[in-house]
Amino acid sequence: MRKAAFILIAAATLVISACGSADSSAPQPPAPVSTAASVAATPAGTPAESPTASAVNVLATTTMLGDVVGQILACAGGTVTVLMPTGTDPHDFSASSDQVAAMVTANLVVANGLGLEAGLTDAFENAAADGAKVFEVGPLVNPIELGAGANEHGEEEAGQEHDSLDPHFWFDMNRMALAAELIGAELADSTGDGAYATCAATTAVNIRTAEAGVRSALDSVPADQRILVTDHEALGYLADTYGYEIAGTVIPSSSTLAEPSSGDLADLVATLKAEGVTAIFANVAQTTSLAEAVAAETGMPIKIIPLYVESLGAPDSPAATYIAMMQANADLIAGGLKG
Ligand SMILES: [Zn+2]
Repeated sequence: MRKAAFILIAAATLVISACGSADSSAPQPPAPVSTAASVAATPAGTPAESPTASAVNVLATTTMLGDVVGQILACAGGTVTVLMPTGTDPHDFSASSDQVAAMVTANLVVANGLGLEAGLTDAFENAAADGAKVFEVGPLVNPIELGAGANEHGEEEAGQEHDSLDPHFWFDMNRMALAAELIGAELADSTGDGAYATCAATTAVNIRTAEAGVRSALDSVPADQRILVTDHEALGYLADTYGYEIAGTVIPSSSTLAEPSSGDLADLVATLKAEGVTAIFANVAQTTSLAEAVAAETGMPIKIIPLYVESLGAPDSPAATYIAMMQANADLIAGGLKG
């Protein structure tokens, strides 16, 4: 099956390069040196313009995108390199020079975009200037504005960043499924191998199917208890999708890089009391000390429940894959609000 697909691609490549030669009077650049893998799989004399599936190398920034890209490549061929280690805060991650160099040699760099990887802006620009192809998928999945799901108080705060879009789109599994399809289409385009689109369609179906479990858990919370207080403005997509309200955030920003003022924290304490909030959903990758201090200030028995917000969990955690992470978060939210 894979061999047959490859022969078709090799034939298509021959046709394309033949047309290219006929159309162009410019001297052709020397053919790139084939890797061992492409020599083994490429019939003699075929230009190595399209990488063989096994040689396709994709670099993904976040662990969530890394998992989804990994599913596509496990099916269609190739290897994924995930830039951010498990447990990393993507708002606060910067790349090493080796990682910037790896962006340039990758067939594709898959990034979240929408400002999530604030520390990688220069790295993306430098790598792109050196020929890297950076594919930011967030802007293509119909992102929502910051402050979605916020109550009246939250909207006032979000108004300051009215034209900002929320980068945390993975909290809506249907948008992540769409992201998988877009990544697959991009890879199919750049490699000439339709298997990337076909495999991405399967990955998207798996995500959409698993979404039913997440919906079931979040729908099990009575409507008047669907009140979220989170560590920063990260759950807008979840609130928007499942009918939850974001009553407040410990850090009043879409980025963990911001710091709350004492006034912000006093406002949050007042909100927690007024809404009778029973749980603050923190972040396993961040310290919970601020959330604990706010909870203590209310004098109410508020639980601090860390969610897997911006990274998968460790391989032995309940959030080792993107789908498992979303189910784990839904179960933690439902358990925290109902219990
Ligand atoms: Zn965030």
